[in-house]
Amino acid sequence: MDLQTKSIVLPISNSVCIIQEADGFADKILFSKKFNLHKTYPDYWAYCTKTIDGKKPTAQDIKRLLIPDQQYLAIEIYKLSYGDEMELKTACTACGKPIGVTVNLAELEIRPLPEGANPPDPSYEVKLPRTKRKVTFGYITYEKDMDDVDSDYNPTRTVFKFIRSIDGQPPVYEEVQKLPVRDLKYLREAMLTKATGYKTTVDVKCSHCDKEIEVNILVDVSFLFGGLG
Ligand SMILES: [Zn+2]
Repeated sequence: MDLQTKSIVLPISNSVCIIQEADGFADKILFSKKFNLHKTYPDYWAYCTKTIDGKKPTAQDIKRLLIPDQQYLAIEIYKLSYGDEMELKTACTACGKPIGVTVNLAELEIRPLPEGANPPDPSYEVKLPRTKRKVTFGYITYEKDMDDVDSDYNPTRTVFKFIRSIDGQPPVYEEVQKLPVRDLKYLREAMLTKATGYKTTVDVKCSHCDKEIEVNILVDVSFLFGGLG
């Protein structure tokens, strides 16, 4: 049987990709490292991507995609493989009861590239309100995003990863840690305003307690592996 293919354009790099629906071989790749899906996903996406700008990508090529491009590719492969409807299986953060809701991925918001952004690797300069330092930041690759995935969440480390330069010099983590929190908050907010590509969070209303919660579809078990959980 012929697998379906589709041509897509990544939002930042403008690269043209031919993607192919996933099959049983793809599922086998996904589970080849004992549920460490962040380690096997690049191989999975590389398997499902026939070409990027005419060339067959390796897992390493996928890891080097900027996150908005990588997420776009992942969601498009999901849609081609499973269809637009995704059954979210999550738990309410307020009452703890399970929530089952159907999300239509065709209706996910796509945020345009911010004004003035120059592909394929846009960066933005801001002046910090407290220390008056000039900071340039951009988007990070999947590889960089995942480099501390097994550590505790560290908001300053996350901000540091996005910084390209401080007063024209390469950033040093210790220096970023010394920044007053007002500057760090300003940086986090500035980075959020430059978010682009698919908005991967959806608001879901709990049917038990009526509370509205935000769910990131990319970490939902249904997205990671349809039919599991
Ligand atoms: Zn609830």
